[in-house]
Formats: sequence, structure tokens, C-alpha cells
Amino acid sequence: MAVKENNARVETAACFCGAIAAEMQGEPFWICTDHDDDCRRAIGSPLTVWVGYRPSQFKLTRGTMKTFSKTTGVTRSFCGNCGTSIGYRDDGIDDEFYLTIGFFDHPERFQPEAHAYWKLRLPWVEFADRLPRIDDYSRQRDPELGNPRDRHSL
Ligand SMILES: [Zn+2]
Repeated sequence: MAVKENNARVETAACFCGAIAAEMQGEPFWICTDHDDDCRRAIGSPLTVWVGYRPSQFKLTRGTMKTFSKTTGVTRSFCGNCGTSIGYRDDGIDDEFYLTIGFFDHPERFQPEAHAYWKLRLPWVEFADRLPRIDDYSRQRDPELGNPRDRHSL
């Protein structure tokens, strides 16, 4: 990892075409393998790993992300040029911003801490790890907003 004078961790990231780049300061607070079907379709991958930062730790260094929302309160961001999935924001967990592990320049530095939406995994998905298997979302969210699965706006 890059080292600055204060020794804080800095990670960099970019989309496939390079139009969008970002820099993340400090440690992510949560890293989770996610098997849910919304993310599967949005990202085009059987599962992904989300790397969670506070919004204040995230800084775009190049380009502008496009955003899309199908679910009330949930905003997904991506590169409008190459389509790389980048981020996930949820009003129900206001101080959290998730980035796809594939967006990072050094994805090997991130170790998942749990499996979320384990019950929605594809039937051939097997992991030899001993991480917790959580059957729904792995974060506490504002109960007023409910679960993303119950609040599709389309
Ligand atoms: Zn791009």
C-alpha cells in the first residue's frame, strides 16, 4: 500500500477504461462477499466483494460517475463510458459507501470478513473459508427504510 507521511493507508482505484479514478484514505471498516440477486444482476457477476468506507474517506481523482437507482434509497454508481460497476450507497446506512473490489488497483489487499445474502448464492458456489454466513444483509440499517428487497420502486 502507498504510504504517506502520516502512514495512513491509501488505496487507489480506476474503472476499466480509466476515465474514472479514485483514492481512498484509511482503512475500510467492512469487507463482505455478497451473494444477493440485485447486485448479481447490476454487476453482471455471480457474486462480488464490497469494500466499505465512510463517504469522507472516498475522493474521486478523475472523471464523474454515473448513477442509477432502481430501489428507493439505493444508488449504484458506474462508469458511463465502459460500464464498470463502482459504488453502492444506501440511505438506510447513511454513513457507509461500498466499492466493488474489482474497481481497486490492488484488490488482493482486501480480505472479506463475511458472506452476506448467503441464502441467495448460486447453487454451485462453495467456499472453504470459515467466515460467517449471513442469510441477509450484513449491516444494521435504518428500520424506517426497511430492507432493499422490500422497497423496489420499479
Ligand atoms: Zn470507464
